[in-house]
Amino acid sequence: MTRYSKQRRLRGVTRRQFLVSAGAALAGAALACGREQTTVAPTTAPAATLPPGLATNPADLVFLHGNVLTIDSADTIAQAVAVSNGLIQAVGSDADISGLVGEGTQVIDLAGRTLTPGIIDSHNHFQVTGLMHSYYTPFLPPDVRTLQDLQDALAEAVAQTPEGEWVIGYFMFLQGAGLPSRYDLDPVSPNNPVWIVQQGGHYGSANSLALELAGIDASTPDPVGGVVGRDANGEPDGIFYNHRAMDLLRRVVPLFTQDDVRQNILSTQPTFAACGVTSFQDNNVRGVDTVGTYLDVGRQGEMYLRGAVYYTLEWPGDLERALNEIEHYSDDFMRFAGFKFLLDGQMTMAYCHEPHNGERWDLPTWEPETFKRAVRELHDTGLQICVHCVGDAAVDLTLDAFEEAMNANPRPDPRHRIEHCIISTPEATQRIKDLGVVVSTQPQFIRMGGDRYADLFGEERAARIMVTREWLDAGIPLALGSDSPTTPWVTPLATLLGAVSRGTYSGERFHPEQVLTIQEALRCHTMGSAYAGHQENVKGSIEPGKFADLVVWNKNFYEATTGQELWDTEVEITMVGGEIVYQV
Ligand SMILES: [Zn+2]
Repeated sequence: MTRYSKQRRLRGVTRRQFLVSAGAALAGAALACGREQTTVAPTTAPAATLPPGLATNPADLVFLHGNVLTIDSADTIAQAVAVSNGLIQAVGSDADISGLVGEGTQVIDLAGRTLTPGIIDSHNHFQVTGLMHSYYTPFLPPDVRTLQDLQDALAEAVAQTPEGEWVIGYFMFLQGAGLPSRYDLDPVSPNNPVWIVQQGGHYGSANSLALELAGIDASTPDPVGGVVGRDANGEPDGIFYNHRAMDLLRRVVPLFTQDDVRQNILSTQPTFAACGVTSFQDNNVRGVDTVGTYLDVGRQGEMYLRGAVYYTLEWPGDLERALNEIEHYSDDFMRFAGFKFLLDGQMTMAYCHEPHNGERWDLPTWEPETFKRAVRELHDTGLQICVHCVGDAAVDLTLDAFEEAMNANPRPDPRHRIEHCIISTPEATQRIKDLGVVVSTQPQFIRMGGDRYADLFGEERAARIMVTREWLDAGIPLALGSDSPTTPWVTPLATLLGAVSRGTYSGERFHPEQVLTIQEALRCHTMGSAYAGHQENVKGSIEPGKFADLVVWNKNFYEATTGQELWDTEVEITMVGGEIVYQV
């Protein structure tokens, strides 16, 4: 893998300087963060043009003889691209671009390989992906598939931990066993407190010693928006549902430091770069200090991927911090983009209009009026608001809150977002469209859970799960993301495959009437995700004037005829701002 060269980037002009020197041609392309936004639907972004002088200077680098999927508004397929000053200089035929090769121009012969815009991951937990390899002990398949496996692996971890110290881990699933309770954990860890979270992030399990340290017993009430699991006698069983409840236990779990956070951000960059991801939106940053660390890492020039971060409000008290303690910092590599709420948890805690067969169906994480007031205040900051919604009632409450805030203060194009949007009603589709709300979703979840959706929600509601086709047909801006590390996959190929196949673990195709074409899915994962972050004028397609954020793939996945063929596609080069940040 090629090391990123910081020096070269610093020698080049920044995008802002370039825009100034390029005059008015790109005036509409100012890095959108804050109040100066323009409305461009993801399918109709205009091709930026360069003034003639700059367009004809020799390029720093050219790609020739390729299959260039530009994702411009006409879905143009070109042969060659020229890069200058970290930006796309020109796109066209080999003959067009060969004319820009000068003495110092680096030439990359694609030899028929495919070049796409860099993938933009609209929803992930970037630094938590790093935590999974440092702070937490993994209890994952293939080693851990059953409760017995978990107990064996936990016993091993406990044996390596001094008595009294915490064992902190995560697990994916336990076949036939649901979530582990303290009665499962106590026999293998009587003398070490244990805290393990389900990889999806919204359930946690503690043993008796951990409960004791946190002072949680039969008299502990459920927090608003969370559930403390109880046994038949009303005693806590060690299972916590939703972050509000998990916070009761987490306050005694030793926390990672901001030094760890910094390391996690840096150590996760190569992982995403190797998958062809050039920009990420960390959609769930808990703690203003962690937001601050992200911004510092960016300010100090340590990012070679482009990041945007959203601060998560878990409790009403976080509103004060959100409004007053976060710097609205923004540069080409890191920016504070807005705020995040979670209105429910994972599938069994989906906040719905009608009962389901999960744990709780009627529990929003936030008391509705408090939530709406917080949305109203944050809307006035001029930044975006993202809301995690699994159930249909969560979606509708979010739309109510957005609508009220937008009516009270009709600022242009706030472009608020619904994350996941797992179950939604047909009426919600029209409201999402009318309010200009972005849906940011993850169809790869279907592989994890698709076989169980009908049992959990009934056939009729299952048909309303991630209605991606319906959204696109309605003209709703759709963005795609990995949600790493909540699934085993960082790679956008898993997301694209989920969108085009909707395949379940058992090999069924879950409501295939909602599939997207590969062209649509790639557009959602590039232009759609750029749009979701107010960035469609500077990234998301291969057009002159945009960042030279590019990926070389070993084959043309537009021609894949099977899911396996798509899945077997490999990233060969990832480039950000004209610099190679990953190469096989
Ligand atoms: Zn997430």
